[in-house]
Amino acid sequence: MGLFGSFQNWKNAKYEDHMSKMKEENKCPDCNGRGFLIFPASMYLYNSESLNCHGCNGTGLYEEWGQSGEI
Ligand SMILES: [Zn+2]
Repeated sequence: MGLFGSFQNWKNAKYEDHMSKMKEENKCPDCNGRGFLIFPASMYLYNSESLNCHGCNGTGLYEEWGQSGEI
């Protein structure tokens, strides 16, 4: 489907743009450099550790994100 294809292209372009921007600023693309993730239900969670970004181990750094899984 052409429509689906163009939507995928748009999504990929947005993703690439986001990734290169995050890389430039050395920010984790998963959490935008915050080091933690925000969920709508976060206010109901008491264990704040579960909100830590696993992509960057809570550091918010692109470097750290790129190394995930190498430990
Ligand atoms: Zn992160």
